[in-house]
Amino acid sequence: CGIVGLVGKKEVKINDIIDGLKKLEYRGYDSAGIAFSQNSHIELIKATGKISNLKEALKEEINTYVDIGIAHTRWATHGGVTNLNAHPHTDCTGKIALVHNGIIENFQELRKELKEKGHTFKSETDTEVIAHLIEEYYDGNLFQAVLRAIKRLDGAYAIGVMQTDEKKIVSVRKGSPLVVAYSEDFALLASDITPIIKYTKDVYFMNDNEIAVLNPGNIEFFDINGEKIEKKSTHIDWDE
Ligand code: GLU
Repeated sequence: CGIVGLVGKKEVKINDIIDGLKKLEYRGYDSAGIAFSQNSHIELIKATGKISNLKEALKEEINTYVDIGIAHTRWATHGGVTNLNAHPHTDCTGKIALVHNGIIENFQELRKELKEKGHTFKSETDTEVIAHLIEEYYDGNLFQAVLRAIKRLDGAYAIGVMQTDEKKIVSVRKGSPLVVAYSEDFALLASDITPIIKYTKDVYFMNDNEIAVLNPGNIEFFDINGEKIEKKSTHIDWDE
């Protein structure tokens, strides 16, 4: 599938996030969805079928501006092609939302454990356990919660996570592609460079187990132990 995420210093038009997603449609097109944060609450819009259906579902909201958004175009592996199974997925509080590319192999045991702790699930996907795990570990710091949650995951993933009280996206990969970059106006993530090069030609290719924290005008990188690391950017020579 394809994932994109944007944290703006300047507000971003939802249509720009959808345009980025459109460039990744070749990676998956059975359903699509977007989450954005407004007035401390996450709004979720999803649609089965192509991204054009998501555009229709967004109606006039497509022209509104938001600080932060994550979007997904799905290629279902676990759970049928339905609105509820489309990403982004949220936790019980609805304050955490995430998009995921890949497969969580131990999702059944995690789901059982989380249900026993009182979590209720809305979808049949492997992905939703990640949102609930992060909720379980969330203590006012999204980065720390993601760091703890990913240690519990077996399988492949590239994820982008937001929490409505924090103006950032936390993103990490293992086995699925992930590129991040920032310009003067935004920090961005995507499954490949095509949604990014419109904004900047200097990108960071993420390696397995590296975590990127996307802030409005910069990106911080960490290793799996939460230690800060330096990464070198790659200059892309081709035009959009
Ligand atoms: N395994 C997840 C799902 O079925 C993500 C699939 C994808 O990468 O699109 O929802």
